[in-house]
This record gives sequence, C-alpha cells and structure tokens, in this order.
Amino acid sequence: MSALPKSLREELENRFYTPPCEIVQTLVSADGTKKFLFRLQDGNVVEGVLMKYKYGNTQCVSTQVGCRMGCAFCASGLNGLVRNLTAGEILGQIAAVNAAEGGTADARAVTNVVLMGSGEPLDNYDNTVRFLKNLSEKGGLNISLRNVSLSTCGLADKIRRFADEGLPVNLTVSLHAPDDEERQKIMPVAKRFSVKEILAACDDYFSKTGRRYIFEYVLIAGETDGKASADALVSLLKGKPCHVNLIRLNEVKERKLLAATDKQAYAFLGRLEHGGLSATLRRRMGADIEGACGQLRQKYIENGEEF
Ligand code: SAH
Repeated sequence: MSALPKSLREELENRFYTPPCEIVQTLVSADGTKKFLFRLQDGNVVEGVLMKYKYGNTQCVSTQVGCRMGCAFCASGLNGLVRNLTAGEILGQIAAVNAAEGGTADARAVTNVVLMGSGEPLDNYDNTVRFLKNLSEKGGLNISLRNVSLSTCGLADKIRRFADEGLPVNLTVSLHAPDDEERQKIMPVAKRFSVKEILAACDDYFSKTGRRYIFEYVLIAGETDGKASADALVSLLKGKPCHVNLIRLNEVKERKLLAATDKQAYAFLGRLEHGGLSATLRRRMGADIEGACGQLRQKYIENGEEF
C-alpha cells in the first residue's frame, strides 16, 4: 500500500498482525479427518491435514511449495519445487488450524505434528530446524518435540546433521523399497543415497538421540508389494531399532500406479511380523478428501480456482 504515508504504514504494521497462512478451504471427511488449503501472503497455496485420534489431534504440515524430489507416486512433486516455506509459514499452518478448531494456548486443539505434507523438510533444513525450535517454545504453542515426527525421503547427509541438533524429534524415513535397484525405479533420490548410507545415518540418529526410527513403506500393486520384497525387507531390517509403517498407495490420477489390495497388504504385513519386524499397516484416513500429499493443491492449480 505504497499510496499511504510511510508513518501510517509503520503504525499499521506495529498494531496489526498479518497471519502468514490463511485457511481458504476446509474439507471434512466422513471419518472426521480435515484437509486444509492455506494461502500464503504471496498467493501460493499449500495443504495440511488434521487427523483425530483417541490420544489427541495430529496435524500434518507442509515444508515447501511443491517438491523437487520427484517420487513416482507422489502428487506434491508434479510441478517441481516452487519455493521453501519460511519457519513462520510452517508454524503458521498450526496456529491457523489451532485457532480454527477453537484451541487456545492452554488447551491446544493440535497436540501432535507430523512433517509429512508437501515438500522435503531436510531440503529446507534451516527453516525446518528453526520451526521446530519455535514450535516447542514455552511462550508459544509449546508442543513437545517428542510429539513431532519428521519424514524424509532419505537425505542421509542431512539426517546426520539433524542428529547433532539435539532435538528429540521422531525420525521417519520413506524407504519404499528394500534395495537400491527397486528404490531407484520410484525415487530419483535413491541415485544420490544408497539404502546402506541411509541405514547408517539412521543408526547414527539412534546412537545420538536414543530414539527408535520408523520406515515408511508404500504398497504399490505389482511394484513393492510382493513376497520377495517383504523377505528382503526382513533381511535388511532385522535386529534394527526400527518400526515399519506400511501405507497402501493413495492413488494419484496423474500417476499410473495402483494401490495394493487389502489382501496383499495384510499378507505383506504378516510376512514382516513373521520375520520378526515390528510393523503396522496405516489406517486409511481421509481418502474421500484428496488425502494424499499434494492432491488438493494440484486440483486448485488445475481448476484455477479463486478464493
Ligand atoms: N518428503 C518427505 C515427507 C513428505 S511425504 C518424505 O519423502 O518422507 C510423507 C509420506 O507420504 C512419505 O512417506 C511419502 O513417500 C508418502 N506418500 C507420498 N505420496 C503418496 C501416495 N500417493 N500414497 C501413499 N503415500 C504417499
């Protein structure tokens, strides 16, 4: 508003707060899960999800507009990376949802946070770390970092650096295949870091933080859901201080991949458990509201919707 006198602009800036993220759309699933579309001050949009569990409400936040990792099954990277989010924009997503859900500083409506929305958090390293420190501030949202999970596609060098930050965050790594060859077919980042390097970085994380790590494994029909993959995963991870979280693929219309059937998913889970791994099959939530990463933003871009 450069037409206004500078003194008035300064006065306005001192007196009023402009939120970094504004909720422009809310979709509510039959299971209670909510999906939010946030508009940033520069007009870009990112999305987030709030999942309601017995023990509290978990918000999934984005760390980048778009993503440059290019995973074959994911909607976030369809148009590449637009830009990193600032620490304030990452925190702003939580502040906005907390307020929209009627939460206060004392009784928060958001109790847990997962960095599993659009973007690769460790590719936006400094802002992500700054966000985490701000999130746990006593005078702020005061959310314990023990209730926070950071998910990465496996940037091994950054995992090691993150281990030295001394933040008690749960580390989650998107493995999605038991070996380099299979992984490279669906995740371009697998050409930069081998499974071996990733496991070594996770062990480093465990020895420095004492925290067990989690592997995410997406079940794609005919690609990652076979018996041989399950057995290879058992040999790879047996004895490690880790848990495996299986996720049925959330089908993305621009991608040709299909979800594993429930039968196949339970058979895969059974093989992992039989092999001695700690594993669970993630409950499907919000499938009716474009639950998967980047789907809602993609729709917004395609439709050229105005809010
Ligand atoms: N960049 C980070 C975090 C974002 S995605 C990472 O790669 O971990 C959070 C999780 O959702 C990742 O495990 C990701 O691989 C998975 N994911 C992305 N698209 C998906 C889809 N269509 N169906 C199921 N899981 C998906």
